[in-house]
Amino acid sequence: MPEIMPEIMPEIMLYIVATPIGNLDDISFRAIATLKKVDIILAEDTRHSKKLLTHYSISTKCRAFYEHNERQAVDGIIAELKSGKSVALISDAGTPLISDPGFILVREAKKSGIPVSPIPGANAAISALCASGIASDAFSFFGFLPSKQTARVKAISAILSIDETAIFYESPKRILATSQDLLQILGAERIVCFAKELSKSFETIKTDILPNLINYLQADPAHQKGEFVILIAADKNKKVAGEKQLSKILPILLAEMGAAKAAKIAAKITKIDKKTCYKNAIKL
Ligand code: SAM
Repeated sequence: MPEIMPEIMPEIMLYIVATPIGNLDDISFRAIATLKKVDIILAEDTRHSKKLLTHYSISTKCRAFYEHNERQAVDGIIAELKSGKSVALISDAGTPLISDPGFILVREAKKSGIPVSPIPGANAAISALCASGIASDAFSFFGFLPSKQTARVKAISAILSIDETAIFYESPKRILATSQDLLQILGAERIVCFAKELSKSFETIKTDILPNLINYLQADPAHQKGEFVILIAADKNKKVAGEKQLSKILPILLAEMGAAKAAKIAAKITKIDKKTCYKNAIKL
């Protein structure tokens, strides 16, 4: 159950504050209150964040904290936190640390015994997943695909072996090339979702087979513009084949051994998780 938290703001705290991924209204009351109260806001691009901060009349001192200065900046920030200051980390969009800087800072803050508190909010991957129509019960997030084709093909090939929804971020510059690589590796049947410009005027969420998605991208240069999340459904055929195999081998194994051992062996053969194999075994 969500609860309204009392206004407790300990002096020493590193807040990880989510900001909108497009629509400026997608920010929580608590995020705004926190950004107003802290001593320092660390922002990936201070000029970019100024728009949001001005919009919400937040006048807290804002300092640059980006990928290339994170390592050097961390010690100084930890020292400031230790001296009693409260700090909020924001990124250009969405949740900090998710394909954005902040991991080193959080890790070092925790090592130094500084409390870290998340202020939850927008995230492109989760927003896309919710509206994709692709299975949301199990998923893996891979951040950005490599920009070089050889590395990208290798990364896409690796997802052939996962049995859950795969989520990537992609740049408009590479969306078409990546889609063509996806088609080549995953085939023309795989269901994929392109979630583009979420929460913005040209929000588009298309879930379809890859040839149709490529046709959409090629139909109009504007279709390749904007920010993209790509979601790839798990291979249904592989799952069905695994389930068929499981239903064949389980009775044979159960004739020779108990359910736990049979499930363990069946999981190794079918690559279906042990728990599912066990559930099926005890039903027989
Ligand atoms: N920290 C952010 C988050 O929580 O989602 C992600 C930052 S990452 C540097 C930026 C990438 O996220 C974009 O290139 C795009 O792939 C994805 N993204 C961000 N905003 C988006 C939006 N409004 N619609 C679709 N994708 C978006």
